[in-house]
Amino acid sequence: MAGDDGHRNAAGLGVGPDREKEGKIHTKLRAGSLKLYELEKQIAPVDAVRVRREFIEHETGTTLENIGIFSIDVNRAATRNCENMIGAVQVPVGVAGPLAVNGEFAKGVFWLPLATTEGALVASVNRGASAITKAGGAEVRILHDGMTRAPVFAAESVGHAKKVADWAEAHEKELAAIAQTTTTHGEMTGLVTFIAGTSVFVRLEFDTKDAMGMNMVTIASAKIADEIAKATGARLIALSGNMCTDKKPAAINGIMGRGRSVVAGIALSHELIEKVFKTDAKTMVEVNYRKNLIGSARAGSMGFNAHAANVVAAMFIACGQDAAHAIDGSTCMTTIDATETGVYVAVTLPSLPVGTVGGGTGVDTQNECLRILGVAGGGTPPGANAKKLAEIIGAGVLAGELSLIGALAAQHLARAHQELGRGQKR
Ligand code: NAP
Repeated sequence: MAGDDGHRNAAGLGVGPDREKEGKIHTKLRAGSLKLYELEKQIAPVDAVRVRREFIEHETGTTLENIGIFSIDVNRAATRNCENMIGAVQVPVGVAGPLAVNGEFAKGVFWLPLATTEGALVASVNRGASAITKAGGAEVRILHDGMTRAPVFAAESVGHAKKVADWAEAHEKELAAIAQTTTTHGEMTGLVTFIAGTSVFVRLEFDTKDAMGMNMVTIASAKIADEIAKATGARLIALSGNMCTDKKPAAINGIMGRGRSVVAGIALSHELIEKVFKTDAKTMVEVNYRKNLIGSARAGSMGFNAHAANVVAAMFIACGQDAAHAIDGSTCMTTIDATETGVYVAVTLPSLPVGTVGGGTGVDTQNECLRILGVAGGGTPPGANAKKLAEIIGAGVLAGELSLIGALAAQHLARAHQELGRGQKR
């Protein structure tokens, strides 16, 4: 329930704002003698957020009455999740389901929370989920699990570069032991090197259990990188050398995997295709072949899918995942095999960075979405919850792919958007 200022005042229930003190703060902010980011040092986070919002309203001549209404714990959000916080943007959350999933970690029927302002998306995933559930549930497997960080070093010559790479590879076990001193849950599970001229990239891979792991892996990699530099004389140039590859479309993630690598598939009968999608197996296979495979290849696309990013982004936002990872997460290939009984549709997502602890997973509304899926917090054993979430998202992407391919095959796409997405005036 929103407080009198529109947010849950966890820090100061019953204590009104000190208007005189805040008046002086506003004067200093306008004079530039106090920075916006310094507010939490002067007043409680709950007041800092409001004062900052008032300052922005004054500076921009706007009224931010909606951004100021939220229920998430401001003490946590303003100190752990978002600097210079002024409030919250509300994104509608819909559910798609029930979706039956036959994974190794996700077993049962799930309601998928999707945070989106894109009309027709939830309805589309819902239709795909209905087909999957009627067909007995999506079969889902985790193919690989490893979060990566790849520091880049400068060597003096190509000969030196080779020595640096060889040393790192020969000392993998010792480097893994160094990583172990920085984390209880994390574990270094792999090391590969790449050389470009005098630049040496050491791509380190970690099992991060239930964490998405970027912070965990970065902290461990810093210690490892120092050791490599000390032992080889190479200069550490950047802890992230872009061969990780974080938040950029990259072939290396598609080939070697990053985060959780997931594959999900479903067999659909001729009868079900006709009933749910009003089309036939042959047309679905051809749409996938000419659109997702030939069209993507002709365009030089890194995604061979219809709209995996839609489901990945909506579930990432709902479930407190790092939204920028929708870039890596939507590297997906959709395949449709013609079978005697109908089709076998599958999605392969080699680079899905997800976690159920850390990052945005503790923000109240996002945590509730994780709870809908039964994956909030650490799993038993550690890692089980993050893998379960990855399997559910994989099944969700399969539902989205099925529905859009079905709509295209039946020539229904424009009509669905006309009915569901239109009608607003602004
Ligand atoms: P984190 O909150 O930094 O770390 C996870 C923490 O949870 C660790 O301290 C770990 O403890 C603890 N933990 C408790 N139970 C666990 C369990 N069951 N499994 C795994 N860990 C458990 O989260 P993170 O996933 O590493 O990082 C996520 C954040 O990184 C996001 O906010 C994202 O935006 C940000 N990010 C950072 C970078 C970067 O370069 N630093 C880049 C991209 C994104 P122990 O380590 O002691 O085991």
